Amino acid sequence: MPDRKILLNENDIPKQWYNIVPDLPHPLPPFIDVETKQPGVGIVPRIFPKEIIGQEISQERWINIPDEVRDVYRIWRPSPLFRAVGLEKALKTPAHIYYKYEGTSPAGSHKPNTAVPQAYYNMKEGTKRLSTETGAGQWGSALAFAAMMFGLKATVYMVRASYDQKPYRKMMMNTFGAECIASPSNRTEAGRKILAEDPTNKGSLGIAISEAVEDALVNEAETNYAIGSVFNHVCLHQTVEGLEAKKQLEMVDDYPDVIYGCIGGGSSYSGIMWPFYYDKVSKKAPKETKFVATEATACPKVTKGVYQYDHGDTAKLTPLVPMHTLGHDFIPAPIHAGGLRYHGIAPTISVLVQEKQMTTEAFNQLEVFDAAKLFIQSEGIIPAPEPSHAIKGAIDEALRCKKTGEAKTILFVLCGHGYFDMAAYDEYFSGRLQPYEYPTQKVAESMDKLHKLYPWLNEVNKKYISCETY
Ligand SMILES: *Cc1c(COP(=O)(O)O)cnc(C)c1O
Repeated sequence: MPDRKILLNENDIPKQWYNIVPDLPHPLPPFIDVETKQPGVGIVPRIFPKEIIGQEISQERWINIPDEVRDVYRIWRPSPLFRAVGLEKALKTPAHIYYKYEGTSPAGSHKPNTAVPQAYYNMKEGTKRLSTETGAGQWGSALAFAAMMFGLKATVYMVRASYDQKPYRKMMMNTFGAECIASPSNRTEAGRKILAEDPTNKGSLGIAISEAVEDALVNEAETNYAIGSVFNHVCLHQTVEGLEAKKQLEMVDDYPDVIYGCIGGGSSYSGIMWPFYYDKVSKKAPKETKFVATEATACPKVTKGVYQYDHGDTAKLTPLVPMHTLGHDFIPAPIHAGGLRYHGIAPTISVLVQEKQMTTEAFNQLEVFDAAKLFIQSEGIIPAPEPSHAIKGAIDEALRCKKTGEAKTILFVLCGHGYFDMAAYDEYFSGRLQPYEYPTQKVAESMDKLHKLYPWLNEVNKKYISCETY
């Protein structure tokens, strides 16, 4: 029987992150400032440290990981690569299934991979406090942990609905020494305005972003903002996943035919995929690996959304971002994969999809929890609902292999555990869980609104991403 766990030593933690930007099939389109309708980054320089902005626009292929960051990574990295021995047996598939498990981090997901360097660069540049938003609480927990490691304060604006539903995430942030505030709050102008109109408002990611950004802008001298996904620098930091996984697969003399992962903003998937994509473009790959990202049918930004410029947030504070989008006014159904409910996606993923370097599949939460159940019964680890979308994709592929008799190698990233998602499992096992499908009609309505708001948008789309979208 093959080993279940393939493990590396602490000195195998990568010394550099890999940046895909110089290796993309065509250059990444710029952000657009809505005031000037020209390339521009708006408020970005006021809320991020210089080193992070440098990485965001970097054309360097390899970027050094500071020793202080590797030293914190040492707490849980290298993360284990598992051979899914039990799952293969349960499926009776000839496929080899591997998963890179990021749930062993102090926050329980891949997010500390970027929270730690972000906190470090802020500390180096004299920031005293970080502000951020969190939906389901995973990013807030990760940032709280990272801020603690470098002696920074952290303020986390947590969407009111989640704050009430997931009190243990808030307590985890408090335990790491961060302040966690239900959003909308009376701390900011944006929050006060909403509460004045509706004191019982349950909040949204958009509102929480507005509060966190306003906090950083108002307290510009000592406070910066940190972001958990979508941006290039975040995806860059996540490449420790794929760089380690490559070494681990080498140890068992294997290489993936296909790589699955889930996409909220796309950072964990980029983290596993980019290093294998590098093998492909540098002609080092022994195989033609397929890259498949999975999303929720309730939030199908790539499978049903439109590739064009849109705001990254509901409050329209960010510049326009070139990405697949459902529209910045997207209101998600209350699915349990909270991390997959973002309306847009990392611009690098959009370029890769557009250039047919990767594909996406969408699954509803009922079939996703069926997959999670089989995974739990055969592997013993309770996955978060988000990566259960990747498990579903991997299981489907393994079953196709069973039909054709192909012994493909399947790799997926299990980006977090589900120990704070027990209410979701309870709903599933009691038969109350509902599937959701986002209607195509709604996408069209949001696009209509967007193009009414910015009648010049198609000119910008044509000029910078060479497509007329609508
Ligand atoms: C945040 C999160 C996601 C979604 O974000 P990505 O940037 O797409 O990775 C998915 N799974 C878990 C466990 C998360 O915490």
